[in-house]
Amino acid sequence: MNATLENPAGVADELAALVSSATLLRRAEPMAKHTTLRVGGPADVYVEPASEADLASVLKFCGARNIKFFILGRGSNLLVRDAGFRGVVICLAQPVFSKIEITSERMVCGAGARLKHVAVEARRNGIAGMEFLEGIPGSIGGALRMNAGAMASATFDIVESVRVMDFAGEVREFAPRDMAVEYRSCATLKKYIALGAVLRGKPDSMVEIGQRMTAYSEKRWASQPAAPSAGCAFKNPPNIGAGRLIDEMGLKGTRIGGAMVSLEHGNFIVNDNKATAQDVLNLIAQLRAKVKAASGITLHTEVEIIGD
Ligand SMILES: Cc1cc2nc3c(=O)[nH]c(=O)nc-3n(C[C@H](O)[C@H](O)[C@H](O)COP(=O)(O)OP(=O)(O)OC[C@H]3O[C@@H](n4cnc5c(N)ncnc54)[C@H](O)[C@@H]3O)c2cc1C
Repeated sequence: MNATLENPAGVADELAALVSSATLLRRAEPMAKHTTLRVGGPADVYVEPASEADLASVLKFCGARNIKFFILGRGSNLLVRDAGFRGVVICLAQPVFSKIEITSERMVCGAGARLKHVAVEARRNGIAGMEFLEGIPGSIGGALRMNAGAMASATFDIVESVRVMDFAGEVREFAPRDMAVEYRSCATLKKYIALGAVLRGKPDSMVEIGQRMTAYSEKRWASQPAAPSAGCAFKNPPNIGAGRLIDEMGLKGTRIGGAMVSLEHGNFIVNDNKATAQDVLNLIAQLRAKVKAASGITLHTEVEIIGD
């Protein structure tokens, strides 16, 4: 799916004719509006499908035309380049994809559901094990793809099954054992779109769950900046945190344009509201080069970089 879009207006018109009127379609949609880092140029076409049928239609259309597409969650692990994205960005942000249904200790969550809502609903229903999701500003879809984690837990610790759509629009279900899952990645979801997942926790008292959530939140906000960011810029190399490595090298506060290494956390690059994507990319390159030169360690980005 590597073709660039030569006629975005025509593509948007053709897509509009294929999907229901409830599907949202926009042209030249600024991605800075859809990422927590608040940088990124326009997507040629931006789509929020109103149903699985409409999502399947968009995917089949992109496949038939060899049009590049990207699945966007809440954009909290994303750096979109300043020139934007030549293709179709698909976001499962409509309510039909964000439902959370609960039966005893199982939560059936749509891919668009916010992790914070999942954690809050789990507490309200006395389900323990989801507390760590509380402070991660992503969606279930993004958390599955990234195997997001915090406080010594990760998403796939609590996943019982994942419902997916392939790029031809066919729906199937996976057990986690049949998926390629590792630290901060589920490679299977490079080839499928997560529609939702069944999460399983354990019964516990609302009070104790609430206490753990409060403790996690306090721990997080004691070390994490409030300024716009995409979370951790780098994956942790073996045996040392990337943030600690950057901190120990005295690189906190390093700035390029409007992008700066957070003073609170060495692995966060923050936007002072004037940063461009290029500022952030340059800062990432500089940090990688300095860390490599000083320690021999190659840092790999955790944040996903897309666009032209
Ligand atoms: C302040 C802050 C704190 C953070 N703290 C943490 C933390 O503690 N732990 C942690 O792990 N991360 C953390 N993150 C990073 C980020 O929140 C997580 O990686 C999150 O899971 C990304 O979800 P998202 O919906 O925003 O995905 P996006 O950023 O939109 O997308 C990320 C990836 O997921 C893919 N994707 C999204 N939806 C789907 C879908 N339905 N099907 C298939 N693929 C999909 C995208 O294509 C992309 O490849 C933090 C980020 C910020 C800004």
